[in-house]
Amino acid sequence: MSTNLLTGDIPRSDLAVSLFRAKAELRAALAPARREELTIGLVPTMGYLHEGHLSLLRAAREECDVVVMSLFVNPIQFGSNEDLDRYPRDEERDLALAAEAGVDFVYAPAAGDVYPPGFATAVEVGGGLTDVLDGDPSRRGPEHFRGVATVVAKLFNTVGPDVAYFGQKDAQQAAVIRRMARDLDFPLRIEVLPTVREADGLAMSSRNAYLDPRDRERALALSRALAAVEREARAASLAAGLEAGRSELAAAGIEPEYLEARDAADLTPVTELGERPVLVAVAAQVGAARLIDNVVIEPPTSGKAALR
Ligand code: AMP
Repeated sequence: MSTNLLTGDIPRSDLAVSLFRAKAELRAALAPARREELTIGLVPTMGYLHEGHLSLLRAAREECDVVVMSLFVNPIQFGSNEDLDRYPRDEERDLALAAEAGVDFVYAPAAGDVYPPGFATAVEVGGGLTDVLDGDPSRRGPEHFRGVATVVAKLFNTVGPDVAYFGQKDAQQAAVIRRMARDLDFPLRIEVLPTVREADGLAMSSRNAYLDPRDRERALALSRALAAVEREARAASLAAGLEAGRSELAAAGIEPEYLEARDAADLTPVTELGERPVLVAVAAQVGAARLIDNVVIEPPTSGKAALR
């Protein structure tokens, strides 16, 4: 049965998901599955679900015996000037959508269950993965990824998944988590799935809810800019591509926090297309929303394009 996200036509009869507020109870509920060696899939989210999240949930449902979704707006990954308080939330709708996508367990803790008094530990991924592409430091610095890595490490320990699912939309986050899982020996597989877009190309994001109709239109310049970068980079040079991308943004009155080309795996700077996939990432404030998007340009010889 499919859900119409626009009309909110959610079949209430499918509300079979089990909701946990406390990690001890979630662990206890997962113990039988672990004993029986069933595969456990985890999809971490901050809620306000859209088709991007649902694509991860559906993949987990197809590949795993037990699907766990976490729903937690993680305070420690928000900068002091960021939108923690107004981040969109609709737990009831999220639970209905999760149930419909076949999620078995939702872990939606209060902040105190995740960060009890005296919490004093952080996971920091270095290696040049987190001190780049940070954009405006008054809004978001490297500590953002410390918050992300810390909460994801805790979720991995709480859930003990065999597979954890993330979106390519947050390309840098995916690179950080891959490195953390490898470096800290988390015994799991990380799956990164393609960015899901609106029909007109806008990458889906919970923060798109902040866009008024005029800014929603302007926001299309991000995906247009990335397409222009890829086109010009293939036709002429990466520098020409980035120039074309900047022009697309400028035409919509958007001054990006960054529009940069990086090695897709280790985020080192690149100046031309070569043998390895190149990540072109953009971040920009558009009206009330800070938006990010990216495209991976596969090596010219392979003939694959990530953004069509
Ligand atoms: P969030 O709730 O924004 O923290 O996102 C939870 C997960 O969904 C992260 O792994 C995101 O990368 C992923 N995600 C968010 N937006 C999209 C999208 N448009 N397409 C694919 N995955 C997405």
